[in-house]
Amino acid sequence: MPCFATLNQLVNIIGAKAINLSIEALVQIINGVQTDTRIIKQGEVFVALRGEKFDGHKFISIAVRNGAIAAIADFEYQDEGFPILQVRSTLAAYQQIARWWRDHFNIPVIGITGSVGKTTTKELIAGVLATKGKVHKTYANFNNEVGVPKTLLELDAQYDYSVIEMAMRGAGQIAELTDIVSPTIGVITNVGKAHIDLLGSEAAIASAKCELLAQMSQDSVAILNYDNPLLIEVASQLWHGRVITFGFTGGDIRGKLIDLQTLDIEGMKFNLPMPGRHIASNYMAALAIAKIIDIDWITLQTGIMVDIPGGRSRRFTLPNKIVILDETYNAAPEAMIAALNLLSQTPGKRRIAVLGAMRELGKQSQQLHQKIGETVRELQLDGLVVLMDGEDTEAIVEKAVGVPSQCFNSHEELLAGLKKYIKSGDQILFKASHSVGLEEVVIQLRDDL
Ligand code: ATP
Ligand code: MG
Repeated sequence: MPCFATLNQLVNIIGAKAINLSIEALVQIINGVQTDTRIIKQGEVFVALRGEKFDGHKFISIAVRNGAIAAIADFEYQDEGFPILQVRSTLAAYQQIARWWRDHFNIPVIGITGSVGKTTTKELIAGVLATKGKVHKTYANFNNEVGVPKTLLELDAQYDYSVIEMAMRGAGQIAELTDIVSPTIGVITNVGKAHIDLLGSEAAIASAKCELLAQMSQDSVAILNYDNPLLIEVASQLWHGRVITFGFTGGDIRGKLIDLQTLDIEGMKFNLPMPGRHIASNYMAALAIAKIIDIDWITLQTGIMVDIPGGRSRRFTLPNKIVILDETYNAAPEAMIAALNLLSQTPGKRRIAVLGAMRELGKQSQQLHQKIGETVRELQLDGLVVLMDGEDTEAIVEKAVGVPSQCFNSHEELLAGLKKYIKSGDQILFKASHSVGLEEVVIQLRDDL
């Protein structure tokens, strides 16, 4: 049972005012902290978070009916007679409890951030650590200001390691999350263009990621991608503690790809759980963790068990030998280019990219879409199919000179077009930003073919 304390301890941790609570009630031990009334259990404390689309304060009565012994609510909440711990910000209170709970555990806690590859790297690191002990990790993509405390509050004494994904949408957020997570090892997978609309430049993105280092305690270890010169430069100004770098161009752990699924480091060969140069890059970060935790690399060479959540590096073979590479979960420019490269190197009769827009790229959006079209051309793919979405997707098609292209304006037309176009032996990549909804097309296609 994770996170326990008396109500009175909670009052002190979050600096709350206790309302409608007797002295006897305050010495009760809580069974946990929960933000969701649908899964709240007897004896837990409900945290009423305010989101864009929901307001937890509206559910306090349901939480109490479902067993909550008290609710954490803010000053705007009107007393309805329920037991309340009143604070200025319920989110800040939730984070303070998570921070307090995390400090009970003297285990390696690995915090991961970066523009792309956080979830993949988290799972690879978890796979490496699982060869030695019990691993607690971020569920799916619960990596933001709510997901990170939620994850930490699930820590309990059975675990030997914790691996936490930390995401940002703007400056200051990684610093906040780092303060809650207090990682003993910090990993920055890379710095790219994701969220450039909010931060303005790659240098600003590098600084935002490096908040992890600025906020980490000096006896922690930093693991950094050597192939990102900007990252290394910004990091070196901020971080004076222990560092392990990894990369293809240099670094403490320097790898080269023997084939799409075999990584070589100084003559040692590692069988990767999935193919791709980008996977190999993330894998090197996991090998750095192994070094720190003292896991012999020899035990990792034949492979590790990993559990990558859907829409990333997923490969399905349909009965008619059509292979689908499902990358529909998301598409930052670097991830799109990595996936196109992987497609071009995958054996098959025809290599076809089914692409949609990459969102949230601000002023550079069109130029970054052009770069995707150029990459399709350079890689000489056998086909390009685009779900159109204005000028950005047009830019992809315009630059993919010489590659047979087809454009569709809706999911339905795309599905119908693909059914006519694709044939046995095709390798087909699907990739776009999540909001484009390409995964619906993949699901339909798998059902229909
Ligand atoms: P999010 O910000 O949405 O949480 P993330 O950083 O967790 O994303 P993943 O979910 O691991 O990233 O991967 C997103 C996409 O990026 C996938 O398509 C994946 O194949 C690709 N990818 C993973 N690692 C890298 C890498 N090192 N370089 C380029 N692309 C990568
Ligand atoms: Mg993620």
